[in-house]
Amino acid sequence: LRMVTCAVRSGEGLIDSVVLSINDMTELKHLEQIRKDFVANVSHELKTPITSIAGFAEALTETKKPEEIEHFSKIISRQANRMRQLVEDLLLLSSLEQEQHKASMSWTTLEQIVGETEEACTYRFEERGSSLQITSSNPENLLLYVNENLIAQALTNLVINALNYSEAGSKVLLSATVSEEHITFSIQDHGIGIPKDVQDRIFERFYRVDAARSRSQGGTGLGLSIVKHIVQVHGGRLSLESEVGKGSTFTIMLPRMGGQLKDLQKRSEEL
Ligand code: ADP
Repeated sequence: LRMVTCAVRSGEGLIDSVVLSINDMTELKHLEQIRKDFVANVSHELKTPITSIAGFAEALTETKKPEEIEHFSKIISRQANRMRQLVEDLLLLSSLEQEQHKASMSWTTLEQIVGETEEACTYRFEERGSSLQITSSNPENLLLYVNENLIAQALTNLVINALNYSEAGSKVLLSATVSEEHITFSIQDHGIGIPKDVQDRIFERFYRVDAARSRSQGGTGLGLSIVKHIVQVHGGRLSLESEVGKGSTFTIMLPRMGGQLKDLQKRSEEL
């Protein structure tokens, strides 16, 4: 804790008033540490693929064997994709942090959001021989007022995680329900589960329970942090139930017209 005091003297040299300023240095130091950790993490995440690309590019210039040329080229391409994914995730995260209130929302349907998610995930499921089971219910065909792309992105992140942290060939369930007030999405897997003591931490940037497993599947360690921000932008709630060895269920609950209500409130405040 830092205190700054400053006496203000009047013309006759008498103390007129005292200005007292108190800064919470612990909070500042904590934020500075978070920033330092973030820069260190990003540098580390970029260094590994760059080293690999540089090494295999050099090896490529020194070999004439077709099978080696193919093998090295594949590694370079995979590592480049990993870097691209990391940069895309970082940019998305930063835009969510800076423009929290500007996320453009519009009227859309549940089918559209679920369809977009399914399209983004299908090939990954085919690759692993797993299946994505979708159930959606919107009996009154209510329209939703959300940022469709962001919600589809959040669902895709959760569904791909469910796939990545389960045995190949297993089943992932995505269920979506709309009521007058809320939209609820839940993503359930029967995978490895998440230990109780780190269930809060997994939403932090770059936190991974098993870093090697995450990286081997192309994970950037930013997926859940992005989901958390997208839910926040919509004024929703994100929850998790998980048991090691049994599986996990992530649930997102959003106000059906959250964005619109916020806009209306803002406009009435401005008037
Ligand atoms: P990553 O790119 O590592 O998957 P995320 O931010 O999406 O990054 O997730 C953070 C960590 O949380 C993962 O590395 C993994 O350890 C854990 N995790 C996320 N989803 C699941 C899940 N469905 N089952 C088990 N562990 C999970």
